[in-house]
Amino acid sequence: MAFVTRFAPSPTGPLHLGHAYSALLAHGMAQAADGTFLLRIEDIDRGRCRPEWEAQIYEDLGWLGLTWPLPVMRQSDRLASYSAALDALWAQGLVYACTCTRRDIEAAMSAPQEGAAPQFGPDGMIYPGTCRATPNGPRMGEVLRLNTASALESVGHLNFLETGPRYAGHIALANKDLLASIGDIVIARRDMATSYHLSVVLDDAAQSITHVVRGEDLFEATAIHVLLQRLLGLPTPDYHHHGLIRDDQGKRLAKRDDARALSKYRAEGYSPADIRGMVGL
Ligand code: GLU
Repeated sequence: MAFVTRFAPSPTGPLHLGHAYSALLAHGMAQAADGTFLLRIEDIDRGRCRPEWEAQIYEDLGWLGLTWPLPVMRQSDRLASYSAALDALWAQGLVYACTCTRRDIEAAMSAPQEGAAPQFGPDGMIYPGTCRATPNGPRMGEVLRLNTASALESVGHLNFLETGPRYAGHIALANKDLLASIGDIVIARRDMATSYHLSVVLDDAAQSITHVVRGEDLFEATAIHVLLQRLLGLPTPDYHHHGLIRDDQGKRLAKRDDARALSKYRAEGYSPADIRGMVGL
């Protein structure tokens, strides 16, 4: 089978050592398999993405010695595809509009009859379902949530193949546990008419990705992705969730850790080979 993977950064800050590791690993795996490495710019969050960060991504990855076919897919060019997928889920009755604020959700979760503090899943706070039963009005400009219980009923067993070091093997997702651990996830945010989860599964399918190589921090989110793939009739790629590059205190690197930015290492005279060494490649 052809091997097609991708690196999918968001242009919201400088790439750091963790990104370098992810991109180099994916690129190396593609080379070893005589496959293809693609780049995708995940720029749906218009408030946080900047053209200068996008330019820096191309520069940093080029400096590391990576190459990729053009044109590069950019999520901001794909809004029509996201909207068509939302229409399909809406037509299946699996989506509802939600008007709750964060504070509403917190209040509902800590109401005495619920008796519990808010639970968190890979998509943030597990939604208590307040708006699920309300008849839906117009959906434009609303937060849209997946009716996860109905969605799970409409699909069979979910599973995927994991090849990463920590969880390697066939991962079977128990539908009952999944409902409790992800809840009614947001699939379209008010400000962008899509979400990370929806866009990523549609883009992986549009780019014919066979292997998703990404950080372990996204392992839990994969359940959401496999569910959405099934609902939308898309193939499920194999997944390789790699370990995270951490700082000296063991904290995973974030975009705000400018000190670890690749461009800084480069300015200080480090070579791409030094970077490979630093991330253990
Ligand atoms: N855009 C995501 C990030 O920068 C990566 C998503 C993915 O690889 O699935 O964290």
